Amino acid sequence: MAKTAPHWSAALAKALPRDTVSTAPTTLAAHAGDSWFASHLPEAVVFADCAATVAATLRFASAKGIPVTARGAGKGYVGGCVPACGGIVVSTERLNRIVEIHKADGVAVVQPGVITGQLQEAVRKLGLFYPPDPASLKDNFLGGNVSTNAGGPRCLKYGVTRNYVLGLQVALADGSLVRVGGRTHKNKTGFDLVGIFAGSEGMLGIITEITLKLIAHPPTRSAISAVFNSPRQAAKAVQSLILSGIGVAALEVADSFTLAAARARLGDSVVPKGKAHLLSEIDGTETAVADAIETAEAIVAEHGATHITSAHGDAGCEKLWSLRREFSASLKATGLTKLNEDITVPRSRLVDMFTFGATLQKKHGIAVACFGHAGDGNIHTNIMADFTQPGVKKTTDIMLDELFDQVLAWGGTISGEHGIGIAKKKWWPRAASPELRTLHATVKNALDPQGILNPGKFLG
Ligand SMILES: Cc1cc2nc3c(=O)[nH]c(=O)nc-3n(C[C@H](O)[C@H](O)[C@H](O)COP(=O)(O)OP(=O)(O)OC[C@H]3O[C@@H](n4cnc5c(N)ncnc54)[C@H](O)[C@@H]3O)c2cc1C
Repeated sequence: MAKTAPHWSAALAKALPRDTVSTAPTTLAAHAGDSWFASHLPEAVVFADCAATVAATLRFASAKGIPVTARGAGKGYVGGCVPACGGIVVSTERLNRIVEIHKADGVAVVQPGVITGQLQEAVRKLGLFYPPDPASLKDNFLGGNVSTNAGGPRCLKYGVTRNYVLGLQVALADGSLVRVGGRTHKNKTGFDLVGIFAGSEGMLGIITEITLKLIAHPPTRSAISAVFNSPRQAAKAVQSLILSGIGVAALEVADSFTLAAARARLGDSVVPKGKAHLLSEIDGTETAVADAIETAEAIVAEHGATHITSAHGDAGCEKLWSLRREFSASLKATGLTKLNEDITVPRSRLVDMFTFGATLQKKHGIAVACFGHAGDGNIHTNIMADFTQPGVKKTTDIMLDELFDQVLAWGGTISGEHGIGIAKKKWWPRAASPELRTLHATVKNALDPQGILNPGKFLG
């Protein structure tokens, strides 16, 4: 049954430019969820067309105490943009302009609704590079990336999104607009307020403009794909590759369940035989990359790789990466529900992590598939469950508890890149000390005293 528009929607529409507010049921439904399982209808959606519209929305909402949730492309994995308490969703999809690319300054200024891949293509044409590469980069927005401090395979060498954010314009809860940081590659003027907003999951302000650092695009790249008889061998090869000093840009590992799922979907000829797969990329000048690939081949062979393939240049590397990019879809194609946890462990615990995944699987009789950014210790640990079976929900809850407890006991973290949102709210008190939670609450109260920004998430 269609919900009636909230009593304040006409006043909101009057306070904002024409055609920016919608209460149409289909629009509300399209802004209720993200790529995780939670969903909650907003009462109105504002399609912001400029920073002033975002600011005016927040002024209106703070005067009336209405919750406001910022939304990028809705590709998040933790329910971050789900309007858990209803109210207004601010969509940034119309804020999709690349404002400036300045080659000499190594800077891009973008609106938050620009798709990450589009910026990468635009700067590439000028010989420039914006490295952060979440697997969702063809769809997700830069505003979402900044707000979740997104990572990706290349973050091993180049760092996460935060490392490229020089400055932000942010609409605060009271509707004021503030600029933090700037456009220089170094800046130590006052506190690091860019760092407070980056990764804040829409709970401290709404980002209306982003100034990003660009670097020179590496002249060339090569990649190496290796197959091992065990994840243990692959994990050991990861350590050796990193410690060799050849400057690997990415190091991705997949376990046997993931490879079996890929074989079932893509065929045996596409997925080499073996129980663990390692993909590594190296970029730089022609000679440096050629030397490094030779060293990398020797290292993986030393660690028992049974099958090694190398590729040079964009086309060849992309062919090797195409298998890695299929892992997530292959796991989904098993028909099981994929509970994707982006835990991160200290790198010395990689072998332990794979062993622990296997132990969990054996103990509870539910498959655990591990793949991901092994170089950073950021292993996507996927509990593959059949929720049509009785008791499975209870078992997976226990498995998640055991997984997070173990990761924390090793000094790891419950999220390396997706964030906490609603999905990991339950484990926030275990992952953060009482003092750290109080500090978060203090920052939140200072910037959003009424608690209107993205309520219902891990800060309550
Ligand atoms: C197939 C797939 C692969 C993925 N791979 C990766 C990966 O490799 N690495 C990785 O890190 N993540 C990955 N993700 C998760 C997701 O894509 C990232 O979290 C991404 O940054 C979300 O961007 P978005 O634009 O979709 O944001 P949304 O999902 O819309 O929002 C995410 C959070 O940011 C807030 N937000 C959005 N815009 C703003 C704004 N302008 N101001 C303030 N807050 C805002 C929202 O309130 C929410 O809390 C993947 C997701 C999918 C579906």
